Amino acid sequence: MSYVKGLKCRECGQDYPKEPLHVCETCFGPLEVVYDYDAIKKALSREKIAERAKNLWRYRELLPIDGEPRAGLYSGFTPLVRAHRLGEVLGVKELYIKDDSVNHPTFSYKDRVVSVAISKAIEFGFETVSCASTGNLANSVAAHAAKAGLNCYVFIPDGLEQGKIIGSAIYGPKTIAIQGNYDDVNRLCSEIGDKYGWAFVNVNLRPYYAEGAKTHAFEVAEQLGWKLPKHIVVASAGGTILPKLHKAFKELEQVGLIESSECKIYTAQATGCAPMVQALKKGTDLISPVKPNTIASSIAIGNPADGYYVLQAVRESGGWGESVTDEEIIDGIKLLARTEGIFTEPAGGTEVAVAKKLIQQGKIPRDESIVISVTGNGYKCLESVVASVEKPFKINATLKNFDDLYAELAETAPGKVAAGE
Ligand SMILES: *Cc1c(COP(=O)(O)O)cnc(C)c1O
Repeated sequence: MSYVKGLKCRECGQDYPKEPLHVCETCFGPLEVVYDYDAIKKALSREKIAERAKNLWRYRELLPIDGEPRAGLYSGFTPLVRAHRLGEVLGVKELYIKDDSVNHPTFSYKDRVVSVAISKAIEFGFETVSCASTGNLANSVAAHAAKAGLNCYVFIPDGLEQGKIIGSAIYGPKTIAIQGNYDDVNRLCSEIGDKYGWAFVNVNLRPYYAEGAKTHAFEVAEQLGWKLPKHIVVASAGGTILPKLHKAFKELEQVGLIESSECKIYTAQATGCAPMVQALKKGTDLISPVKPNTIASSIAIGNPADGYYVLQAVRESGGWGESVTDEEIIDGIKLLARTEGIFTEPAGGTEVAVAKKLIQQGKIPRDESIVISVTGNGYKCLESVVASVEKPFKINATLKNFDDLYAELAETAPGKVAAGE
């Protein structure tokens, strides 16, 4: 049974059927999925959810599928880690990491949106799936397409990290690297989508795809015992996840799973690509596109499709945003690794560093509950930290050699893992 009523234009409100459509014919606004919340409220309960398998489909009534899920049966339900050591360094009382760096199967938040999009692509009868990606999305689409036996073409900007390129290629899609940045890739993909009739997960399936991001928020609420943190910090690239966290919190309240949807949402961006943060600070609704220049390649989108909705959700929730330099991003990656044992990529380093900055500025109070979303995995982007970590000490295989080395090491630094440097 499906609780989806149809699609609706976010701007003019015109209704559309549940089809692979994404823009309004009248006003060119984006289309969004509409649900029957009264029916969901009757059908769904905390107990019912608790009985289900630990994957993102445990919230299936609030996801846009008709019938059974066809993909992502092991995606989602990532750990919410109580971060005592990082909390101590940041000087806050109650800190958690929502750890999508270990999402299944491709180690980023994108496995959520892709699970829903591929399930939908199969429902609609598409045989070829595709995407315009900064790297993680391509990895996830390629993996899910392999599992589902679909043809797959992924489009990325030229010059991505090895881990991101091989992290798609291994699944056997056709990878097309475009000379230019993500915004060039995206523009080309709109034209290809129209001409070839493929399921572009983040273009013509975007209304369905984007709904998958809500599961990150559903899980945070459930993992906190069906309440929300006071503050959540998440990176923004194209602007999908942040407004969907806001929508998800409101939905949980509407269907009676939580009492209050109050939670301040903060956007995290790299200084080398921070169009949303710039607009927030200027107090404008207009996003001025920028040319990205940052090591945080997975969030380097200079002309974000849903940037306006990020601003709206941040403001409505009472949150804010900040940006951090590449140097601060690397410090954020190392800080998270050395306090919590979690290795994230530059996007996650951005999330940690921005949280740190907002706490230092007093924008996020130290005595309230905080979740930092960590959205990607560091093993895919070794290049970004290779120069910032200690090299192995090379010795011969004799005890004497180690004794000498140890004497030297023990003098300068004890073996204990220190949080900062
Ligand atoms: C895509 C991505 C994001 C956020 O992107 P949105 O387009 O704003 O949803 C954050 N972190 C990582 C690692 C990503 O790959």
